Amino acid sequence: MTYTAPVRDIAFTLMHTAGLGRAIAAEPNGDLTEDLVEAVLEEAGRFATDVIAPLNAVGDRHGTPFKGGRITMPPGWKEAYTGWAAGGWMGISAPTEWGGQGLPHAVNAACLEMWNAASMAFALGPFLTQGACEALAAHGSAELKQAYLPKLISGEWMGTMQLTEPQAGSDVGALRTRAERQADGSYKITGQKIFITYGEHDLTDNIIHFVLARLPDAPAGNRGVSLFLVPKFLLGPDGKPGRRNDARCHAIEHKMGIHASPTCTMVYGDEGGATGYLVGEENRGLNCMFTMMNNARLAVGLQGVAIAERATQAALAYARERKQGRAAKSGESAPIILHPDVRRMLLTMRALTRAARAICYATAAATDASHRAGDEAARKAAHDRAALLTPIAKAFSTDIGTEVASLGIQVHGGMGFIEETGAAQHYRDARIAQIYEGTNGIQAIDLVTRKLPLGNGGAVRAYIAELRDTAKAAAAANHPALGGTGRLLGEAIDSLERATDWLLAQLDASPDAALAGATPYLRLFGTAAGGCALAQEAIAATRLAAGNGGAVDAAGRATLARFFAENVATQAGGLERAVVEGAESIAQAETALA
Ligand SMILES: Cc1cc2nc3c(=O)[nH]c(=O)nc-3n(C[C@H](O)[C@H](O)[C@H](O)COP(=O)(O)OP(=O)(O)OC[C@H]3O[C@@H](n4cnc5c(N)ncnc54)[C@H](O)[C@@H]3O)c2cc1C
Repeated sequence: MTYTAPVRDIAFTLMHTAGLGRAIAAEPNGDLTEDLVEAVLEEAGRFATDVIAPLNAVGDRHGTPFKGGRITMPPGWKEAYTGWAAGGWMGISAPTEWGGQGLPHAVNAACLEMWNAASMAFALGPFLTQGACEALAAHGSAELKQAYLPKLISGEWMGTMQLTEPQAGSDVGALRTRAERQADGSYKITGQKIFITYGEHDLTDNIIHFVLARLPDAPAGNRGVSLFLVPKFLLGPDGKPGRRNDARCHAIEHKMGIHASPTCTMVYGDEGGATGYLVGEENRGLNCMFTMMNNARLAVGLQGVAIAERATQAALAYARERKQGRAAKSGESAPIILHPDVRRMLLTMRALTRAARAICYATAAATDASHRAGDEAARKAAHDRAALLTPIAKAFSTDIGTEVASLGIQVHGGMGFIEETGAAQHYRDARIAQIYEGTNGIQAIDLVTRKLPLGNGGAVRAYIAELRDTAKAAAAANHPALGGTGRLLGEAIDSLERATDWLLAQLDASPDAALAGATPYLRLFGTAAGGCALAQEAIAATRLAAGNGGAVDAAGRATLARFFAENVATQAGGLERAVVEGAESIAQAETALA
């Protein structure tokens, strides 16, 4: 079973839930139109479906053999990557002055979902490169941008992001890689990085590493970290790759999933040290890296959506074919999709996938508005909205990615455990997304300790108020197919609001209690937001259908919103209690873990 890009669903969510349609209408002088966006999505969908998706199982089986310091990518991957880069996809939302297409991040997010669904291992290198481009564009010197940005944006070269060291994982400030100032203004980099994605490969003729390191006189911790651009090949006077830099892959990891994404141990200093160039200011490296990381966190969230979509497609196809048991009405041998328990699994898969998609696209749209909105206050509000939603987009979507992939195996029964159906690969691939780019535990802590206090709680309260408007609209719609959706979502939002107030109060009074509740709180947040997004889609589809707005599947969207409200949003009360009442036993953990 392969993957077919659900371009119509994606375009619907982009326009009607993430608000891209509104943003286009509000930008009367731009040359962006809904038709243009749809044409881009169609083309991306074709490439993902026809070129990348067939390589997914090949990559899983072949992996990335490492010999004599070189990595061989799986058969067909170089051709696919070259075609992808030639299509301009790397620079789709990069600045036009550097060769990008300047399209909204929300459009890139939709494309990223499709690349990742086609193959997570394929899309990972490209989206880290996109993050590198953003960091370089925002913080690099004019010379560095001139020399590297056009080649990265065109996809001719790829980038890496290098934070992790054996003793520095979640605690990035513990890193020890050293950078020493040189007389010519460059820096000498020595040290070791682990788990570096696409640190070595044969897809491009240069690889541009973005490496965090510490100067000899740097303050300890996060404030003493600087960012360096370290090319695999130093550039000659003609701007082309020349002498080999002292940055090498020494080994690769053998992993549970994403077998075709090389995960490298990188060593700087086999020959005395690599030449690196400072990006941004000394000791302000984490600031620069955060530009890259926010982008990458949303992209990893989209991996969760992507794998969930692919797993759902596979499970649906299997459930329509596989016959077991008898249909209740006819008594005849029935495809398993007719059994209520299988329907429950399939509806859960589709509802969680669409909810996470809507959250991720809304995050990307907020990032766009933080750059493009008409006035300063609107840009600031959009910036805070993107900051608030990013940890939810990352952690909620990747949690549901694994859950949906697991349900996909369950729908397949025993065949789900057998590799040939592909369901097992979805599950194996999905699992890493909960870990890298900041574990989901770290995302929850970020949400509670940094994002809730934004604007003295104003950012979160404004968002909750919007969720309430949606719940009220769902109730007021009086749509029989929505049942009690509006009321149930209202109750979930009540839980979210009470848990938010409680956490904001604990941040000063009892920070450990707030940290203990962070993960269930993030899930509660994603649950309320996801339920409202599906209700919003149902309302928009009903309106469009009434106005003859084409095939928008209003009935299906209403059923899905109702299913989510009744089966998922109703868990909000339990999550609220876990946040508010769960801290005490966690504080006593030692007694039970002895
Ligand atoms: C396949 C793969 C690809 C990767 N690609 C890259 C890459 O390209 N570049 C890169 O730099 N890194 C990369 N990483 C590294 C990845 O980002 C880290 O593995 C991740 O950030 C977690 O760090 P760690 O493994 O050291 O776990 P740890 O930090 O040791 O965490 C272990 C557990 O403790 C929890 N924990 C840790 N600290 C806290 C805390 N303060 N409060 C609460 N809980 C805490 C974590 O949530 C986790 O559950 C990759 C990793 C893998 C496996």
